[in-house]
Amino acid sequence: MAWVFLSLAMPNTLIQLNQVSKSYPNNPNGGVRGINLRIQQGEFVAILGESGSGKSTLLKLIYGLLSPTEGKVLFQGQEILGPEEKLIPGHKHMKMIAQNFDLNTYAKVYDNIASMLSNTDLEGKKLNTLAIMQALRIDHLAERRAVELSGGEQQRVAIARALITKPQVLLLDEPFSQVDVLMRKQLRADLKRLSKELGTTMILVSHDPLDGLSLADTLLVLKQGELLQKGTPTELIDKPANAYVAKLLGAANILPAEIANSYFGFQLAATEQLVVYPYECKLVETGIKASITQIHYQLAHNELELNVEGHVLHAQVPLGAYAIGDYVQLQFSNFRIVSN
Ligand code: ADP
Ligand code: MG
Repeated sequence: MAWVFLSLAMPNTLIQLNQVSKSYPNNPNGGVRGINLRIQQGEFVAILGESGSGKSTLLKLIYGLLSPTEGKVLFQGQEILGPEEKLIPGHKHMKMIAQNFDLNTYAKVYDNIASMLSNTDLEGKKLNTLAIMQALRIDHLAERRAVELSGGEQQRVAIARALITKPQVLLLDEPFSQVDVLMRKQLRADLKRLSKELGTTMILVSHDPLDGLSLADTLLVLKQGELLQKGTPTELIDKPANAYVAKLLGAANILPAEIANSYFGFQLAATEQLVVYPYECKLVETGIKASITQIHYQLAHNELELNVEGHVLHAQVPLGAYAIGDYVQLQFSNFRIVSN
């Protein structure tokens, strides 16, 4: 009995990276370094970072399109074979959606998707194709040729083609780059729903933190090939490992110790910094005096650029009649302290 209990209590690790580095021969500073990571079955993971931080490299290492220079990548405890060791690159239980979608552009949407299944069960093939087209809201496009679709529609066909084969893991590299804002919101919601409905482990790469924050169970933040932090969206926003993470995810204001201490009444050590998100900057009756230097109009709030003794702060405040040059009083409703 004790053994059963233990095995149930153990998290179900699907993918594991042990001290993984990948450097490119002609670019020793590129790639990724020293990555340790576990991904659970059914988890939705978003890999975030600036362009060139190593996101695509990490995704390709997980899929087996690249071999690590050092360390190991394991799938269900078995080392993933790199491209040199396999005839068809890529792990058989995973599907990766390429940036160009790899569609058969002159075939109909229905055939693009159905052709992923064998002909051993024609009735099942038809039902499954219809079901996945409905789940991705492309059933009305069944008779159109892929070449006649918008970028966002092609993206959905590519996802349907991947999911119909029931992969354990779906890998998506910048899936929203060709999708406009409205469609992006819908596609995010559909991906999240499908990952839970199908139990598919999803690993998504994006340079837009909103993709990760709105979708993922777990965020990974990369910088210059290194994994800075891993956690839930709430953990990373509440307790960023450093100022970089807070800036990348929440466009945080970062105040060096001397500014925080001199003008905001804090007592930080010289190695510490104050992190305040724009929505934590409140305008009050009596607080720190600041002047408005810029106003960015948003739909539901205003984004103000404030100057406090030469230091620029961004504040998200209720809509109001603000003018450049006005003086306001500022207070932080919340903040956190990080070390350099
Ligand atoms: P991201 O996807 O975050 O933009 P990449 O993983 O594509 O980042 O790249 C990470 C770093 O590795 C970058 O500095 C990039 O220039 C370098 N790099 C990526 N692919 C290659 C390659 N095939 N050869 C040499 N350098 C590469
Ligand atoms: Mg990339």
